[in-house]
Amino acid sequence: MPSYVITEKCDGCKGQERTCMYICPNDLMKLDRDRMKAWNQEPDQCWECYNCVKICPQQAIEIRGYQDFNPLGGNVIPLRGTDAIMWTVKFRNGTLKRFKFPIRTTAEGSVDPYAGKPEADLSKIKEPGHFTQQGAGVTLPTIK
Ligand code: SF4
Ligand code: SF4
Repeated sequence: MPSYVITEKCDGCKGQERTCMYICPNDLMKLDRDRMKAWNQEPDQCWECYNCVKICPQQAIEIRGYQDFNPLGGNVIPLRGTDAIMWTVKFRNGTLKRFKFPIRTTAEGSVDPYAGKPEADLSKIKEPGHFTQQGAGVTLPTIK
Protein backbone atom coordinates (compact mmCIF):
# COMPACT_ATOMS: atom_id res chain seq x y z
CA MET A 1 0.00 0.00 0.00
CA PRO A 2 1.44 3.42 -0.88
CA SER A 3 2.41 6.02 1.65
CA TYR A 4 -0.15 8.48 2.98
CA VAL A 5 0.17 11.57 5.12
CA ILE A 6 -1.69 11.97 8.40
CA THR A 7 -2.54 15.62 7.91
CA GLU A 8 -3.12 16.32 11.61
CA LYS A 9 0.54 15.52 12.27
CA CYS A 10 2.16 17.14 9.20
CA ASP A 11 3.43 20.68 9.72
CA GLY A 12 4.98 21.02 6.26
CA CYS A 13 8.39 20.80 7.93
CA LYS A 14 7.95 24.54 8.46
CA GLY A 15 9.17 25.16 4.92
CA GLN A 16 12.54 23.46 5.42
CA GLU A 17 14.25 21.49 2.66
CA ARG A 18 15.05 18.05 4.09
CA THR A 19 11.53 16.68 3.85
CA CYS A 20 9.54 13.90 2.27
CA MET A 21 9.61 15.96 -0.96
CA TYR A 22 13.41 16.04 -0.91
CA ILE A 23 13.88 12.34 -0.25
CA CYS A 24 11.28 10.64 -2.46
CA PRO A 25 13.13 8.92 -5.33
CA ASN A 26 10.00 9.10 -7.43
CA ASP A 27 9.20 12.77 -6.73
CA LEU A 28 5.74 11.92 -5.45
CA MET A 29 5.38 14.03 -2.36
CA LYS A 30 4.00 17.53 -2.78
CA LEU A 31 3.33 20.34 -0.35
CA ASP A 32 0.15 22.37 -0.21
CA ARG A 33 1.75 25.67 0.78
CA ASP A 34 -1.54 27.26 1.81
CA ARG A 35 -2.22 24.57 4.39
CA MET A 36 1.44 23.51 4.89
CA LYS A 37 0.43 19.88 4.46
CA ALA A 38 2.15 17.31 2.26
CA TRP A 39 0.47 14.62 0.21
CA ASN A 40 1.35 11.76 -2.09
CA GLN A 41 0.33 13.10 -5.48
CA GLU A 42 0.42 9.77 -7.32
CA PRO A 43 -0.02 6.79 -4.99
CA ASP A 44 -0.02 4.32 -7.89
CA GLN A 45 3.62 5.19 -8.53
CA CYS A 46 4.75 4.69 -4.92
CA TRP A 47 7.09 1.73 -4.55
CA GLU A 48 6.86 1.75 -0.76
CA CYS A 49 10.54 2.41 -0.22
CA TYR A 50 9.88 3.97 3.22
CA ASN A 51 12.23 6.91 2.59
CA CYS A 52 9.54 9.49 3.26
CA VAL A 53 8.35 7.59 6.32
CA LYS A 54 11.83 7.54 7.79
CA ILE A 55 12.70 11.16 7.13
CA CYS A 56 9.48 12.66 8.47
CA PRO A 57 10.27 14.32 11.81
CA GLN A 58 6.59 14.36 12.77
CA GLN A 59 5.95 10.67 12.09
CA ALA A 60 3.18 11.92 9.85
CA ILE A 61 3.58 9.36 7.05
CA GLU A 62 2.46 5.77 7.17
CA ILE A 63 2.62 2.75 4.93
CA ARG A 64 1.14 -0.63 5.61
CA GLY A 65 4.20 -2.66 6.54
CA TYR A 66 5.53 -5.46 4.40
CA GLN A 67 3.98 -8.75 5.38
CA ASP A 68 7.30 -10.42 6.13
CA PHE A 69 7.76 -8.37 9.28
CA ASN A 70 4.32 -6.92 9.91
CA PRO A 71 1.24 -9.15 9.61
CA LEU A 72 -1.98 -7.93 7.99
CA GLY A 73 -3.82 -5.36 10.05
CA GLY A 74 -0.76 -4.19 11.93
CA ASN A 75 1.26 -1.05 11.44
CA VAL A 76 4.88 -0.02 11.66
CA ILE A 77 6.22 3.34 12.76
CA PRO A 78 9.86 4.44 12.55
CA LEU A 79 11.37 6.99 14.91
CA ARG A 80 14.62 8.51 13.74
CA GLY A 81 17.38 9.17 16.22
CA THR A 82 20.89 10.50 15.65
CA ASP A 83 22.48 7.09 15.11
CA ALA A 84 19.60 4.67 14.72
CA ILE A 85 15.98 4.24 13.75
CA MET A 86 13.66 2.66 16.28
CA TRP A 87 10.93 0.69 14.51
CA THR A 88 7.74 0.02 16.42
CA VAL A 89 5.57 -2.75 15.05
CA LYS A 90 2.03 -2.92 16.36
CA PHE A 91 0.17 -6.15 15.71
CA ARG A 92 -3.59 -6.21 15.30
CA ASN A 93 -3.95 -7.95 18.67
CA GLY A 94 -2.19 -5.00 20.30
CA THR A 95 1.20 -6.67 20.72
CA LEU A 96 4.09 -4.22 20.34
CA LYS A 97 7.55 -5.11 19.14
CA ARG A 98 10.46 -2.74 18.75
CA PHE A 99 13.78 -3.08 17.04
CA LYS A 100 16.61 -0.65 16.50
CA PHE A 101 18.56 -0.35 13.29
CA PRO A 102 21.71 1.76 12.89
CA ILE A 103 21.80 4.59 10.37
CA ARG A 104 24.73 6.44 8.77
CA THR A 105 27.33 7.92 11.05
CA THR A 106 28.98 10.24 8.52
CA ALA A 107 27.72 13.67 7.57
CA GLU A 108 25.55 13.92 4.48
CA GLY A 109 27.67 14.64 1.39
CA SER A 110 30.93 13.75 3.14
CA VAL A 111 31.49 10.40 1.40
CA ASP A 112 33.74 10.46 -1.67
CA PRO A 113 32.67 7.42 -3.75
CA TYR A 114 35.80 7.71 -5.93
CA ALA A 115 38.33 7.88 -3.10
CA GLY A 116 41.16 5.39 -3.65
CA LYS A 117 39.90 4.44 -7.10
CA PRO A 118 41.98 4.82 -10.27
CA GLU A 119 41.27 7.55 -12.77
CA ALA A 120 38.78 6.48 -15.40
CA ASP A 121 40.57 5.26 -18.55
CA LEU A 122 38.33 6.27 -21.44
CA SER A 123 40.46 4.32 -23.93
CA LYS A 124 38.98 1.17 -22.38
CA ILE A 125 35.40 2.35 -22.48
CA LYS A 126 34.32 -0.47 -24.81
CA GLU A 127 35.95 -3.22 -22.84
CA PRO A 128 33.82 -5.42 -20.63
CA GLY A 129 34.34 -5.25 -16.87
CA HIS A 130 33.65 -2.85 -14.09
CA PHE A 131 35.33 0.31 -12.84
CA THR A 132 36.03 -1.26 -9.47
CA GLN A 133 37.07 -4.64 -10.89
CA GLN A 134 40.24 -6.17 -9.49
CA GLY A 135 43.13 -6.90 -11.82
CA ALA A 136 43.14 -3.66 -13.77
CA GLY A 137 45.45 -3.93 -16.73
CA VAL A 138 44.25 -7.40 -17.71
CA THR A 139 43.54 -7.32 -21.42
CA LEU A 140 39.96 -8.25 -22.09
CA PRO A 141 38.39 -8.90 -25.48
CA THR A 142 36.95 -5.80 -27.13
CA ILE A 143 33.25 -5.64 -27.94
CA LYS A 144 32.77 -5.15 -31.68
S1 SF4 B 1 7.43 5.38 0.03
FE1 SF4 B 1 9.15 5.98 -1.27
S2 SF4 B 1 8.28 6.11 -3.36
FE2 SF4 B 1 6.56 6.12 -1.90
S3 SF4 B 1 6.13 8.30 -1.57
FE3 SF4 B 1 7.52 7.60 0.07
S4 SF4 B 1 9.58 8.10 -0.66
FE4 SF4 B 1 8.20 8.17 -2.43
S1 SF4 C 1 8.31 15.17 6.11
FE1 SF4 C 1 6.45 14.85 7.37
S2 SF4 C 1 6.06 16.81 8.40
FE2 SF4 C 1 7.51 17.20 6.72
S3 SF4 C 1 6.21 17.84 4.99
FE3 SF4 C 1 6.53 15.59 4.81
S4 SF4 C 1 4.77 14.67 5.89
FE4 SF4 C 1 4.86 16.81 6.51
